[in-house]
Amino acid sequence: MGKKIIKNLFGILLIVFIIAGIVFVYQTYNYNEFEKRIKEPGKTVFTRDGDIKYGENYSYKIENTDFHDAMFSKKIAVNPNTPYKVTCKVKVENVENEENGKTGGAHICIADTTEKSISISGTQDWQELTFLFNSKNRTEVEIGFRLGGYDALSKGTAWFSDFTMEAGIQSDDTNWKVACFIFPKIDVDVEVNGQVQHVSLQMTDNDIRAVKTNLERYQTSIAEISHQKMSVEYEVYTIEEPIHTLSYDEENGYYVSANDVYDQIHTYVEQNEYDHIYVAIRLADTQKGNDILVNDWIGLGGMDYFGIGFSNIRMPDDENNYVYQYHYLLNTFPEEVFIHEFLHTLERNSEEYGYEVPALHDFSKYGYSDRGNQGLKEWYEDYMNQEIEYQGTKIGIPQQMYTYKPVHESDFRYSTYLDVFEEPDNIIEIVRSLFIRVGKLFDEKQ
Ligand SMILES: [Zn+2]
Repeated sequence: MGKKIIKNLFGILLIVFIIAGIVFVYQTYNYNEFEKRIKEPGKTVFTRDGDIKYGENYSYKIENTDFHDAMFSKKIAVNPNTPYKVTCKVKVENVENEENGKTGGAHICIADTTEKSISISGTQDWQELTFLFNSKNRTEVEIGFRLGGYDALSKGTAWFSDFTMEAGIQSDDTNWKVACFIFPKIDVDVEVNGQVQHVSLQMTDNDIRAVKTNLERYQTSIAEISHQKMSVEYEVYTIEEPIHTLSYDEENGYYVSANDVYDQIHTYVEQNEYDHIYVAIRLADTQKGNDILVNDWIGLGGMDYFGIGFSNIRMPDDENNYVYQYHYLLNTFPEEVFIHEFLHTLERNSEEYGYEVPALHDFSKYGYSDRGNQGLKEWYEDYMNQEIEYQGTKIGIPQQMYTYKPVHESDFRYSTYLDVFEEPDNIIEIVRSLFIRVGKLFDEKQ
């Protein structure tokens, strides 16, 4: 009798021990259908961490032993043209980005695209990361929890946990909230012909006045040119803190990217849910002999600030240039650069939503030309109203693009929670998830 109880007890203990072992192995080596994506082998260690974790569940740890790009990712089915919000908790330790870059770090992204949340570097305790995106014309996206980046490499350790995803509701408002940040000062180091040079420059009061006047004109013009298909409401900020870094690419030389002004503008952008952002700058002043950064572009567009259209408005290097000055003979359309750069965003958005639109710079291909004192106004009008004659049809920006604005927090007031990142968190769920997984394996083999 006594022996049997002991035997049974031993049997029960053995079972408990085996289950505990399975649970431990499961928690440590199970990645809940996340894939581990790396750029090169041998530079990243992926683990589930039971010591450093945010809540009950083991965290997902990415350790880049060298500058590298790695992520846990999962393919998620989405409905087209829908705003989505993904969040997680993240903790970082000794995260450094290659060349001290501001991109890279720990963040949430859509794999194989530049769409991403802000990123966290250095050593920081657990905090929430939020990533907003629109599915546009996609039916599936691969969400990544990443250390590194699409065009950046990072070293150090990141822990991710508590993933959530929600679907929001797209607003159909055609009023665009625009912010223009005037940066009167730049104070940057740039490399010209292999030499580092310092450029320190200040806008004139005339420059600032020209930007403000043109914004007012732009507000009226864009409603007129679009035949009231959209409207703009804007705010101007003059940021006294200088721009300290510039970005560079082969085609355009030095320019201002989202990362160069993030610290100075992000609180305004988050509080006000802007739909488009302009940054107004002066990079050279030939009259004052400050001509290191002379350039041939006056505006730069089609860029984005974490999903929000982002353009540079550049003061002409030569103060006697009339591009931003109204003159009844020479220039009756001084707000043109604001319109032009905004249209680059509509051009890019249309393509990303799967529409074929003419390239904004192809006006001559469709028989339009720069008409003296009012520039390309006629082209912009037909472009915005889909009235460009082409092979018997009419082309341009599709009307719905005026409602397809960037995703904002307020799109999630009545959101639907999606259980795509749900993790089993007790023994019964773990065992059930194991059975489902084994079942799937058999299905796949057949
Ligand atoms: Zn352009």
